[in-house]
Amino acid sequence: MTILWGDDPDRLPANRMGSIEPIAKTEGNVMADFCKQCSEEIFGEDFEDLKGLGDGTPLEPGMGWTALCEGCGPTVVDDNGICKSDGCLKGHN
Ligand SMILES: [Zn+2]
Ligand SMILES: [Zn+2]
Repeated sequence: MTILWGDDPDRLPANRMGSIEPIAKTEGNVMADFCKQCSEEIFGEDFEDLKGLGDGTPLEPGMGWTALCEGCGPTVVDDNGICKSDGCLKGHN
């Protein structure tokens, strides 16, 4: 499941600020989502589950999209679905 605005934003190191509407494209999607690194680790290929979470505008430096990766937990990814979280359970950053 993809979460743009997490239930507990304080736990996540980088929330993009702004008035973006939540994206519903993954609503009802029961497939697991993986960041780029986890996807490559687990499947040997990037399935881009967490790619393109934004609205098309470039992220500011140091910002990212909050997401839940099935491999490394609540994290922050960039527009390419690359895990950027300082708190990544797997230490991807
Ligand atoms: Zn991951
Ligand atoms: Zn990670």
